[in-house]
Amino acid sequence: MVRQKRMIGTHLDITSQKHTEFELQISRDRFASLVANIPGIIYRCTFDDTWVMLYLSEQTLEVTGYTPDELTNNKVLSFFCLMHKHDKTEVEIEIRKCIQAKKSWSVEYRLIDKSGALRWVHDRGQAIYNAKNEVIYLDGFILDITERYNTQSEINRQQSLLESMSKQGRIGAWEINLKAQTLYWSDEVKVIHELPADYKPDLTTAINFYKAGEHREKISQLFNKALTLGESWSVELIILTNKGEERWVKSMGQAEFKNGECVRVYGSFQNIDAHKRLELESEKSNRYNKNLAQLTIAPEVQNSNVTQVEKLIVKSMCDVLEVERAKLWIFNDTSDAMSCHSLYIKDQGFVELSEVLHIADYPDYFQFIREHNLTAINDVTNHPATTEFIKDYIFPLNIKSILHAFISIGNSELGVLCAEKVGQHHNWTQSEETYLRSLATLVGSTLVSQRRKEIAEELKIALIKAEDAAIVKSQFLATMSHEIRTPMNGVLGMLELIQLEPLSKSIETKVGIAKSSAHSLLGVINDILDFSKAEAGKIELENINFNAKDLIGEIAAAQAFTAQEKGIEIILDLVRLEPAQLCGDPGRIRQVLTNLLSNAVKFTNEGEVVISAQINKVEKGLAFQIKVKDSGIGINEKKQQKLFTPFSQVDASTTREYGGTGLGLAICKQLCELMNGSISLTSEAGTGSEFTATISVTQGDQKERYIHKLDIKNLSVLVVDDNKTNRIVISQQLEHWGAQVELASDAYEALEMCEKRINNKQTMYDIAVLDMQMPGMDGIALCKALKAHNDYKNMPLVMMTSIAGMEGAQRYSDAGFQAYFPKPVTTADMISALCVITNNKHNDVLPLVTSGYISSLRKEKLQRYAHILLVEDNLINQRVSTLMLKKLNCDITLAENGQQAVDILSKHEDGYFNVVLMDCQMPVMDGFDATAAIRNGDAGDKHKDIKIIALTANAMESDKQRCFDAGMDNYLSKPIQLAILKDKLEQYI
Ligand code: ADP
Repeated sequence: MVRQKRMIGTHLDITSQKHTEFELQISRDRFASLVANIPGIIYRCTFDDTWVMLYLSEQTLEVTGYTPDELTNNKVLSFFCLMHKHDKTEVEIEIRKCIQAKKSWSVEYRLIDKSGALRWVHDRGQAIYNAKNEVIYLDGFILDITERYNTQSEINRQQSLLESMSKQGRIGAWEINLKAQTLYWSDEVKVIHELPADYKPDLTTAINFYKAGEHREKISQLFNKALTLGESWSVELIILTNKGEERWVKSMGQAEFKNGECVRVYGSFQNIDAHKRLELESEKSNRYNKNLAQLTIAPEVQNSNVTQVEKLIVKSMCDVLEVERAKLWIFNDTSDAMSCHSLYIKDQGFVELSEVLHIADYPDYFQFIREHNLTAINDVTNHPATTEFIKDYIFPLNIKSILHAFISIGNSELGVLCAEKVGQHHNWTQSEETYLRSLATLVGSTLVSQRRKEIAEELKIALIKAEDAAIVKSQFLATMSHEIRTPMNGVLGMLELIQLEPLSKSIETKVGIAKSSAHSLLGVINDILDFSKAEAGKIELENINFNAKDLIGEIAAAQAFTAQEKGIEIILDLVRLEPAQLCGDPGRIRQVLTNLLSNAVKFTNEGEVVISAQINKVEKGLAFQIKVKDSGIGINEKKQQKLFTPFSQVDASTTREYGGTGLGLAICKQLCELMNGSISLTSEAGTGSEFTATISVTQGDQKERYIHKLDIKNLSVLVVDDNKTNRIVISQQLEHWGAQVELASDAYEALEMCEKRINNKQTMYDIAVLDMQMPGMDGIALCKALKAHNDYKNMPLVMMTSIAGMEGAQRYSDAGFQAYFPKPVTTADMISALCVITNNKHNDVLPLVTSGYISSLRKEKLQRYAHILLVEDNLINQRVSTLMLKKLNCDITLAENGQQAVDILSKHEDGYFNVVLMDCQMPVMDGFDATAAIRNGDAGDKHKDIKIIALTANAMESDKQRCFDAGMDNYLSKPIQLAILKDKLEQYI
């Protein structure tokens, strides 16, 4: 304002000057305002060594931190000084070059601002010339590009990062400019195609890199959709590289539209080959595993149905391995040929092929497959395993690749699985090989289990056959046994009855021989039957109380006679047999010991047989050990080994000399084992043998059981048997003892007879003896009928059967019988059974009465004490008689002949002896003379009337008469039977 006033004041004088100044000022202001609005430094500087700034615009402060004044006309702190020392020379050279070329320059360099920070600037300027074309100064414009520069360098960094990433990720970029009709491929896209870096892609041919067929079709479809509909895509396809390799790529693309028109299509292109192949392989492997799992649980496989499994497998091979042909070959039994069991052809299904490959025709092939479990043949024309097939098989069928798995389990070669690729080669992969190998194992195990099944089936059939045979055998034996025993019963029974009659000595001897022959025949039958029973596991054991000392004593006594005849001594050593009261199966023990003892006696010609028995405590009860030692012929070591096997006699000559079936010891072994024991032997040829049998027993109760005397005269017995001889034998045996016997020839008659008794108000029979096999109603049925009737149900029943077959005693016990005896039955056993059953007044629960049970019972002792004078010269007879008398609880004084008897008697008081048992035949003085002497008073009057019972081997009527004539009171015929001895004694004490 002040200045304006002044200007106005001098207006007139200096108007034109003022006007000029004013104009200048305006121009300056305009310049300043313009410059102030330009976002950069406007400068003018000298063109010399110093580059001193003549003018700097206000923005200098903003860019450099210095005011324009600080830097103008300042040689010390020139603008040039701010330039980064590394840029100075380059910038100066460039500017000078441009000045020289009379061009404007454009350079970028770094400045250090007042704060010391680095700033990027863009300097654009030009030289100003005078009329002489000399540079007077330089004008220019400096723009701060720090920010832009930083952004760019970030972009560059990211660019290079992207490039390296795209290289690493094998991912490239492409772009189609539709307007310009150009195609751009980044370097990586070219690398993926195995093309050189300078390759120029062409829009029309680029698509041909995609594999012909579905892949090429797919990409062109997707491209067209992008062009027309703007759809983007992402797809995995196969290309064929420049080198002809197949490669999996991932192509992604999208279209850009402008004004509704597609101007650009661009996207990425990635090499995913390795990954894709892995993925496909793993997919395949999953598919294989799934298929294998399905096959494993398929019902065909579970049931080992080989034909169906074979079909299932070859079809799976075709489907899952994607081959055109799949085959299964199976070896023949001799492993020298294979036949085609199953062939599946894609598009045709199962095809019948009765082809057989013989090892003789294809030796190389057979050798190769046997040496290799798995053979993967990528090119069949060039493989040792397939050369033999090229002409006739591979070429005609156009087979290119084969995968081959050998089927074997253990050492057995079973067959071959074969997958064939037709038309094009295939490189078999690991997972395909594994899959086929697994299928081979599956087929192998199915074949094996099928064979196992077949074998099991065969075994089953064999077993059924064997069982049938065993049933037939046991039926045969039962029938045989019945057929033989029935007449045997008649023979033995009649013989026993004959023996009861007064007989001449010669007849008695003959009857005796017949009886013993019949007994040995029965022994043979019993042996065979026992052996079959043992073999079939049909032997039932009894478990009853018995006295072991008595048992052994009786067995020894039974053999005493034979031994005596041979001049052999039987010695009993029972001191360690404690406790003697045991529980077990005395019948079977008797059988074992009898066999051992009779063998010992049989095979010993002189010396002795020692029976020693003892009881050992073992973990589960007691072990009853019996040793039978003889001084006989002995058995050599070699022969000992097979002694316990059936039908093995030491040699044929033994059989000729001694007879026998060779079953005895085999049965003994089976019986001992059945009784949880064993049997063994030590022997030396010529010296003798020792057999040791051990049997498990338990301690029996101490209560002694007796067979009480029964007055059989009061007994009414019903005998039911369809066999007439049997009826006669049994009735006569019983009647001999005074029983009243009524006979029925079948079950119906028996029932009628019982009914009649009731109707007639008679008492029921005391006991009924039934046969088993009868026409119409058998013994068991009759038993049931009787037991069902109130009036007869308490009548004791005895089963007496000649069918000593496989059915055991248990069956009869279950049916309700009180006793069971296989025929023939000895009179003594029968009487004993009747005694036991009918005397059971206390209704004790008795076990089924069998001969085993009876033999376990002690015969009743004499009612009163007795002292017997036994007059006997024979050593064995002395022993046997002594044993029996002791059993009856008698005291014994022995005299060896008649004279001794007279002498002994004379030394004792009256009543000292109750009875004299007098043998008849004796040296020095026989029994007749001795009796006469006693009756005569030679032993003193006090003994004149002493009771004398004759012991005579001759039961002829004349002998008996002779005994009575000599003054004897009674007589006993030898061999003496305990029961009869007891009976006789009881008459006199
Ligand atoms: P067998 O019924 O034929 O006697 P065993 O099985 O009882 O059948 O005996 C078989 C064979 O063993 C006899 O034939 C005989 O050769 C031999 N043997 C058995 N015991 C004796 C023994 N104590 N001394 C000699 N040999 C014996």
